[in-house]
Order: sequence, then structure tokens, then C-alpha cells
Amino acid sequence: MIDSLKELPRAAWLAVARWTAVVGLVSVAISVGISHAIMSMLSQGLNGPGLMAAIVLPLLLGGPMTFWHLVRLQQLRLANQKLQVLASTDWLTACLNRRAFTHLVSDHLSLAQEPHLLPQGALLVIDADHFKTINDHYGHDRGDEALLLMARIIKSKVRKGDLVSRIGGEEFGVFLRGADQETAGLIAERMRKGINAASFTPEGTAHALSASIGGAVFAGRISFTELFRIADQNLYRAKRSGRNRIEIGHATDHPAARPLAPSRQLKLADAG
Ligand code: GH3
Ligand code: MG
Ligand code: MG
Repeated sequence: MIDSLKELPRAAWLAVARWTAVVGLVSVAISVGISHAIMSMLSQGLNGPGLMAAIVLPLLLGGPMTFWHLVRLQQLRLANQKLQVLASTDWLTACLNRRAFTHLVSDHLSLAQEPHLLPQGALLVIDADHFKTINDHYGHDRGDEALLLMARIIKSKVRKGDLVSRIGGEEFGVFLRGADQETAGLIAERMRKGINAASFTPEGTAHALSASIGGAVFAGRISFTELFRIADQNLYRAKRSGRNRIEIGHATDHPAARPLAPSRQLKLADAG
């Protein structure tokens, strides 16, 4: 209890103080008004001791209760904020989780419904290459360290306002707001190079990391499912053509009806 009080930020305490004062003042004003009305009916109005009682009583009775309720309200608000962060982030990398990422990107894409806006941007799907061998050789914990390292590198290459998510296992999603094909290509290349140059030294010896990146650039109306499908097909191409490379295409250039890479059909179905 005391610990959770210590966690309350200064702004929360200021809000508690402000609202306690407001509620106190309003209570005193009402109390004085009512006391004055009653005393005017019974005698010649509110005298000194009566006025004092009308001021002090509501403060004494209501003040501590109001204060305590406001503190509890602030604690609840803080707990809710923490829960929201927990519910939307990946436990290992602190990137957005798949659900939060899908919601945020879908929200952005829905701007395309507004006729005067033409949202554009790019979705990148980044998949660690041969990641299973890292777990097999060095164990799952070292694998987790490699994932953390990759997440840090990916986050360091995006711009303010872009979104980074671990969308599953050893796979990351990045949404680049407003990016055109050239910008998306530049950022993806920085990520690929950064991951490939990372110093990952499990058991003291260097192990080169690499990732393949598939991307889809869009301008105008498109659904998240469609955008993901195109980025994913490009990722599949990057993997097939040797890994540690980038394949980015424009959403409108892409044959929409092309089937999804077989290994991915199941995952998309799972994600609903
Ligand atoms: P590819 O280049 O084709 O992508 O090969 P890959 O080995 O990366 O792909 P595959 O799908 O065969 O294996 C993915 C591996 O990622 C297997 C799984 O154990 C590992 N993995 C998934 N999530 C985690 C995690 O949270 N931590 C660790 N350490 N490993 C994970
Ligand atoms: Mg994968
Ligand atoms: Mg992989």
C-alpha cells in the first residue's frame, strides 16, 4: 500500500491536492449557504460561531474522505496505464505485440476512408535467418539475447512515429508512416546491415546474425491483411533468393490474388 503510494507521480499528487481543495471549497460554500438560510428562518441569520461550524464541519468530515478517494482514483489510473502497457507489449523485447501492432496499423490505414487524406507508408516484415540453429547450438536463453539485440537494432533505425512490433517468434513487423519506396528501402537496408554487423558472441565466439526483410509500400486504401500478405510474399522471395536481403514492392504493383507462402498460411489463419 505504502509502496504504491510512493509510485504516484508528482502530477497525480497535484491533481489530488487540486480536487481536494475544489471539493472542500464547494462543500464549505454549500454548508454556509444552507446554514445561513436555516438560521435566517429561525433567528437573525448566521452568527460567528455558526459560521465557524458551517466552515469547519464539512472540511473535517469530508476533507479526509475526499482526499483518500482521490488518492485511490489516481492509484487505479496508474494501475490501468500499467495494464495497458503490459497488454500491448511483447514481454521479451518491449516492442508492441502483434495485436496492438495490428490495431494501430489498421487505424492508420482506415484514414484512407477520408477522401481528403491519402495515407501512405510501408510495412516491413523482418525475419531472422536460420534462427533455429542459434537455439540448437547455444540454447534458448542465448536465442532470446539475439532477439533482444535484433529488436534494439530495429528500433534504433526507425523514425519518430514509426511502429515496431514482435509479431511472432523470430519475426518483427515495422510500420513506416508516410514512407515511400525509396525511404522504406533505405530504412530496411540500414536494419539489415545493422543486424548483420551486430556483435553477438554467445560462449565467447562471434556468431553472425542476419535477417531477411519483405516490404510492401502503399498509397491509398488497403487493408492490413492485404498489406501484410504482400510484405510476407516479398519476405518469402527474400528468403528464397538467399536470405540476408531485402525485397520491397509497391502494393498496387502486386498481383493481389497470388497465394500466400505455404508456411505462412497457417500463421495468418491463427491470427484471425
Ligand atoms: P528461416 O531462415 O527460414 O527463417 O529459418 P529459421 O530457423 O529462422 O525459421 P524456423 O521457422 O525454422 O525457426 C524459427 C525458430 O525461432 C524456431 C524457434 O524455436 C525460434 N523461436 C521462436 N520464438 C522464439 C523465442 O521467443 N525465443 C527463442 N530463443 N527462440 C524462438
Ligand atoms: Mg519466421
Ligand atoms: Mg526465421
